[in-house]
Amino acid sequence: MNTPHLQPELGSAPGWPLVLYFHHVHPTLEHYTSLTPASFARGVETVLETVGEALPPTAITTDRTKLPDRPTVLFTFDDGYRDTVEHALPVLAAFGVSALFFLITDRSTEASGAGAVADPWQAYLNWDDGRELVRAGHLLGAHSRTHRKLTELDPAACQSEIEGSVEAVSAAQGSTGEVHFAYPYGLVPQQPSLPAGTLGFGTVKAPPVAWSGQPLNIRRTYLPTGAEDDWAALCRGWRDQWWATSR
Ligand SMILES: [Zn+2]
Repeated sequence: MNTPHLQPELGSAPGWPLVLYFHHVHPTLEHYTSLTPASFARGVETVLETVGEALPPTAITTDRTKLPDRPTVLFTFDDGYRDTVEHALPVLAAFGVSALFFLITDRSTEASGAGAVADPWQAYLNWDDGRELVRAGHLLGAHSRTHRKLTELDPAACQSEIEGSVEAVSAAQGSTGEVHFAYPYGLVPQQPSLPAGTLGFGTVKAPPVAWSGQPLNIRRTYLPTGAEDDWAALCRGWRDQWWATSR
């Protein structure tokens, strides 16, 4: 391992909300952040009990004076898979959690004009689903138009991926708030930057830096699949890091 930042046990910077990311919640899929519905419920319960309450995504800010003075957790989902509606939403509702869903916007547009897709790896939320999420109290974010590696694109193509997806989410969401962005694969391009006011969310590749110090590459971490018995200790570690004296 080349960098210690890949360690999922490393949470946020002290004093800053922990951000978790998920992809699929599905009974059978295997992926490093995909959980079964039962595991997801256990994970949410463990996180809320051990780390702290859920931070509403509408409360995202780099002004720490406006954030809670105790550990909180922001739940995020990447790629916009349909199984999240079926399997994650009931769990989130049961625990009263509002989450941030980062959509691959061309996939959502394509899904809006197509019928049901059987393959859960290829089944994406359409824009009606997105609006349903918003009505249920969740927030949409952008995760590029096509999920290419932004670091491999020229600046114009990269700008299209970023701005096109931010505009599509803004149009669907119908709110005047900022649309936040998650980088595909956690790869942050040199150019161009994100639109003003947009916060950029990375992955475990991002260093644990205060959101205000690095608002374009905020660290997120995850509950490792298949390690359920370690989650409580993992959560205690994240909570203790929040309280570390260096904040
Ligand atoms: Zn992704």
